[in-house]
Amino acid sequence: MVAGDQSDPADVLIIGAGPGGYVAALRAAQLGRSVTLVEARRVGGLCLNEGCIPSKQLARFAAVKAAAEGLAPSGMPGLSGSPDMAAFQISRASVVSSLVSGVESLLKSARVDVVRGEARFVGRTRVCVQTGEDAVRFFDFKDVVIATGSEPVAWDGAAFDGVRVVEPSRALEWDHVPESILMIGGDYIALEIAVAYARLGTKVTLAAPDAQLLPGFDADLSAAAQTGAVQAGVELGSGEPDTFEKVVVSLGRKPRLDPLDLAAAGMRRPQAAFVVDAQLRVDRHVFAIGDVTEGPMLAHRAMMQGRVVGDVLGGKSSGFDARAMPQVVFAEPEIATVGSSEGVAARFPLAALGRALLEGRASGFAKLVFDGPGGALIGAHLAGPRATDLIGEMTLAIEMGATADDLALTVHAHPTFAEALMEAAEVSLGTPIHVRPQRAR
Ligand code: FAD
Repeated sequence: MVAGDQSDPADVLIIGAGPGGYVAALRAAQLGRSVTLVEARRVGGLCLNEGCIPSKQLARFAAVKAAAEGLAPSGMPGLSGSPDMAAFQISRASVVSSLVSGVESLLKSARVDVVRGEARFVGRTRVCVQTGEDAVRFFDFKDVVIATGSEPVAWDGAAFDGVRVVEPSRALEWDHVPESILMIGGDYIALEIAVAYARLGTKVTLAAPDAQLLPGFDADLSAAAQTGAVQAGVELGSGEPDTFEKVVVSLGRKPRLDPLDLAAAGMRRPQAAFVVDAQLRVDRHVFAIGDVTEGPMLAHRAMMQGRVVGDVLGGKSSGFDARAMPQVVFAEPEIATVGSSEGVAARFPLAALGRALLEGRASGFAKLVFDGPGGALIGAHLAGPRATDLIGEMTLAIEMGATADDLALTVHAHPTFAEALMEAAEVSLGTPIHVRPQRAR
């Protein structure tokens, strides 16, 4: 349709098909709403196309190389030659494509109407979508969900140019291993990319703006991340940007709201992010989810909010009140955290765990935090192999109010890394089997 006054009705209109938007669309459609999902770029959003998935693929690629090299003393022949990044990029694109087409086919079978184009408000209940250079469509919605995600914060030291000074997503697309990288930032995204390229052979210098890496994480985890990064070959410090082949800037992200023209819908643009209630409402018929809302910018948070908003739109009584929000880092070692650091802490070293020793990966730990001696678990901070998977058990334990006894008396298969969780609970009870008893901190 060419520009004009004609419009289509939209029972539920969702702007943005990232992990927040597409999950909301699927759930609302399951519950009988008729859904129009507008996406300016590719279904799957930042997460599938340029964030979580490709960054983890790069991290795994580099970790496999490091693991093979680490096995040389045990008799495994080492790797020869340098990594073929062109082949890696083909494999990355193929993984992303299959995930994106999986989501597209789910949307199709749920009868979600996917409209390609950039959306902006042109009235209280009307949105205009630029579907082509000279083509627009208008939609009159009953309910709207804003799920437009975020964009990177720039660095005042040098502007993004897409080639040499780049945001993290671009650093996942290179077809060669750069000789040198200056990484500006100390968050999990900076750390993952820095460690991966250091393992692939780049000279990486990481300049973190904060005193500790992974700001906001438990101090023991930040210390483990720092030791691991240095061991992986990352130099911590600063450098003259012009002397590096690449400069990657990872200084956080901000909600992507400006192109929406919220004022046209009578909405005030929030100073930072939308503050929403438990039903993800900004206004009676306006909802917001994912990176545009206040809180940690994480795909699993966006997906859970998407699920809840879909429920609410479908007439269910539902609310977003996650007691525990896990966070994972695929660096060296793997880091995972959930809940509080404040309480009675007990720590079990992987050096005392059979599985860690047999894998030659014994430098991590499991640190559990309880709300009192023998009390409920309120936090877990893990460093070591599989930490990013083990945090699932800890998140469930916090959600269910599990105590140290519950964890210590749950049989954990042997020999696995999960035993470290049971052992740490035993430490907190003062009755550990595989380390000497210690006084709980
Ligand atoms: P997005 O995924 O950003 O999706 C928003 C969508 O809206 C986009 O597709 C965009 O094109 C579309 N859009 C925007 N404006 C409009 C408009 N006006 N009209 C139509 N469409 C529009 N999170 C994790 O939990 N785990 C990780 O391991 C992880 N790794 C990451 C690694 C990197 C390198 C980066 C950059 C991010 C990572 N994240 C990770 C963060 C995660 O990607 C985001 O938190 C998540 O994608 C947010 O989901 P969302 O649905 O809110 O927004």
